[in-house]
Amino acid sequence: VKHSGRHGLRFFTAAMQQKAARHLQLVNALRYALEREQMHVVYQPQMSLIERRIVGAEALLRWSTPELGTVSPAEFIPAAEESGLIQSIGTWVLRQAVRQARAWLDLGLPPIVMAVNLSAIQFRNRELPALITRILDEEGLPPEYLELELTEAVAAHDPQGAIAIMNELHERGVRMSIDDFGTGFSSLSHLKKFKVYKLKIDQSFVRDISTDAEDKAIVSAIINMARSLGLKTIAEGVETAEQLAFLRAQQCDEMQGYYFSKPVQPAAFQQLSLEMAAK
Ligand code: C2E
Ligand code: CA
Ligand code: CA
Ligand code: CA
Repeated sequence: VKHSGRHGLRFFTAAMQQKAARHLQLVNALRYALEREQMHVVYQPQMSLIERRIVGAEALLRWSTPELGTVSPAEFIPAAEESGLIQSIGTWVLRQAVRQARAWLDLGLPPIVMAVNLSAIQFRNRELPALITRILDEEGLPPEYLELELTEAVAAHDPQGAIAIMNELHERGVRMSIDDFGTGFSSLSHLKKFKVYKLKIDQSFVRDISTDAEDKAIVSAIINMARSLGLKTIAEGVETAEQLAFLRAQQCDEMQGYYFSKPVQPAAFQQLSLEMAAK
């Protein structure tokens, strides 16, 4: 027992060392990611199930370097958060997405709402509402075209501070949605205080919606609750016609997922948007 315990410990330490080394490597590379123009934003359409057209886009960050190749946001966003680099990177994404939304309006595409993911760390910044207003002003986008996707983690650190920032953003006309809804903690108590507009039903519930009775019940409960609270719903990670049919029957408002389109470059998004409008 002692023997295997020692080996177990040594193995654990080596794994931890490897993880720490990878983290350092990522943070060092992240510092230069923007100035070296290694990041770009892709856009995934959000479809209205009633109007059957694109009503929104989610901006998703992409990063690749010559040394590291393509790194998934699931890996580099946490590194950016822990190092504080998420502030500058997050501001950059906001500006890119707002600029893109303005450009699409100027091109005469059907109007859409641009959804941008915001880290809970960015949300601790009391200057966030002013920063967002400045970006909107400078890029010339009315606030109702911007939606911020927040997770329930925004309230973990300083709930009162988070509510104050949400109130201010709400007053400035920016919409907010709760991302990954259902996976967080004490979701229901938040809903009363948060000035949210929409719930994004997490893809972990959507995945087995056609076969799993529990997931069916959860998704339908979220949609019904949202409706009685006057909130919109969007389902994420929709990949099949069966999932879509269920969501439509439950009167979910919007959907997003590979079934309609993966996140794509701006030119491809533009084309999709025009094709849908022509139908
Ligand atoms: P998220 O906000 O929950 O974004 C949804 C993720 O699901 C995206 O992964 C998207 O590409 C993926 N997805 C969309 N449709 C489908 C589908 O039908 N099936 C499956 N299996 N997946 C689908 P992605 O782009 O790798 O982003 C991962 C996470 O990284 C995001 O999760 C978000 O938490 C974070 N992230 C991405 N960009 C940003 C950003 O600019 N700022 C911040 N703070 N976080 C970001
Ligand atoms: Ca999101
Ligand atoms: Ca999500
Ligand atoms: Ca997620």
